[in-house]
Amino acid sequence: MSQHVVKRLPAVSGTSGWEAISNRSFPAQSLDGDISADWLIIGAGFAGLSAARRLSQLRPSDKIVVLEAGEVAKGTSGRNSGYMIDVPHNLSSGEYSVASETATTLEIAQNRFAIAFAAAAAGEYGMSKRTFDPSGKINAAATARGMKLNANYGQSLKTIGEKHRFLDAREMQDITGSSYYLGGLYTPGAVMIQPADYIRNLAAGLSQKVRLFEDTPVLKLGREDGKWTASSRCGSVTAPKVIVGVNGHIEDFGHFRGRLMHIFTYASMTAPFEKAAGRETWALLPADPMGATVRQIATDQGSRIVIRTRFTYDTTVQVSDKRLAKIALEQRHSLDARFPHLADVPFEFSWAGRLCLSRNHVPAFGEVEEGLYSACCENGLGTVKSTLAGVMAADLATGTHSEQLEKFMDQPKPARLPPEPFAWLGVNAVIRLQELRAGREG
Ligand SMILES: Cc1cc2nc3c(=O)[nH]c(=O)nc-3n(C[C@H](O)[C@H](O)[C@H](O)COP(=O)(O)OP(=O)(O)OC[C@H]3O[C@@H](n4cnc5c(N)ncnc54)[C@H](O)[C@@H]3O)c2cc1C
Repeated sequence: MSQHVVKRLPAVSGTSGWEAISNRSFPAQSLDGDISADWLIIGAGFAGLSAARRLSQLRPSDKIVVLEAGEVAKGTSGRNSGYMIDVPHNLSSGEYSVASETATTLEIAQNRFAIAFAAAAAGEYGMSKRTFDPSGKINAAATARGMKLNANYGQSLKTIGEKHRFLDAREMQDITGSSYYLGGLYTPGAVMIQPADYIRNLAAGLSQKVRLFEDTPVLKLGREDGKWTASSRCGSVTAPKVIVGVNGHIEDFGHFRGRLMHIFTYASMTAPFEKAAGRETWALLPADPMGATVRQIATDQGSRIVIRTRFTYDTTVQVSDKRLAKIALEQRHSLDARFPHLADVPFEFSWAGRLCLSRNHVPAFGEVEEGLYSACCENGLGTVKSTLAGVMAADLATGTHSEQLEKFMDQPKPARLPPEPFAWLGVNAVIRLQELRAGREG
């Protein structure tokens, strides 16, 4: 008999602007009573909902239940910057693309497989272009070092025959309306999502086939007589097979402890404003991974800019309001430097969210106990990697063999971290040094 008591639950830091401006089209229901199912999925983010969609395709008559601790789209899946990126995006090494040609080609193929899965869902559930926009993205450079990083990245894309285009300062200004950038590197394969809308639309689209219970944290997970039972505050679900899509919280279920880095990153969204120059929407990633992600979106009320900066390694599930306010002030300076004409447009929302990285850039994936599957640790690109992990977990759990799954399984376990407080000290020191080196890119 196996028994896990979940002592630590997810918590939110600040209000996500994406969630605040997104409409919810379906009522929330929490679990009340004891039920059984063929499949239980824990977590309703990219991983959990993608696993649910894949299971509903593979086993259309099975009973599938999803339990979510909070409310759909209020967690990290509804508070990210919305870049579904096909090309390499390694955040733990200081440069996005550091792997060999073969590994890079495989990573791109896997990312595209996940994006295609998301695109099929977007099509089937009638998501609008504001929710799911295959526009591509630009790695923007504001320093000579950023230009060099873009040149290196472009070279690695060229070697494997990947489409890309360099943009000069003039083109960057035509797109963004800002003279801040020296150049950019455009890659066409990224999809830009409104993350809260995407996650809500995915949940709504699945509602005919999947029962979703929100505000229903799993507090205990135990196995007896070949079945798992997940207990929450007012009920339980018993199922022979469970897929866990809780990202870094997999440690709280007793797995991958001491192997996962919990990194917060921070974002702010402006109030709506009337666009002056440049395109209506654009999406910039920093040429230096430690710089600022800046995106302009169109809403019914006008344009808004969303800026994301900073990474901090924390062992807590939440950061303080004081930290949020301090970083929002830094973001204000970054925004003003790029768009001085928007100095009077305030930030309406500031928030943070938790990423999960592993030292060796691999997921926490696989059958971790009999009938218990982990689709966790997204390495900073969960819109894509967690979508893929969710689909792969459903394939693995149903015995659906494919070349895709074989390759996905052919990865080592996340590497062990140094013990605390050494991991905390070491990771934060490296992050801070890299952020300082990023300079004007941040
Ligand atoms: C500001 C910011 C910007 C980002 N930008 C990007 C980006 O542009 N592109 C990108 O790809 N990624 C980005 N990310 C990362 C991305 O959001 C995550 O990788 C993604 O959300 C991971 O998805 P997931 O489904 O694995 O986990 P999560 O989104 O964390 O979902 C896990 C779910 O499990 C639930 N859960 C946890 N414990 C329990 C429990 N005990 N019982 C029941 N439910 C539980 C949680 O409430 C949560 O809803 C960003 C993140 C932040 C914070």
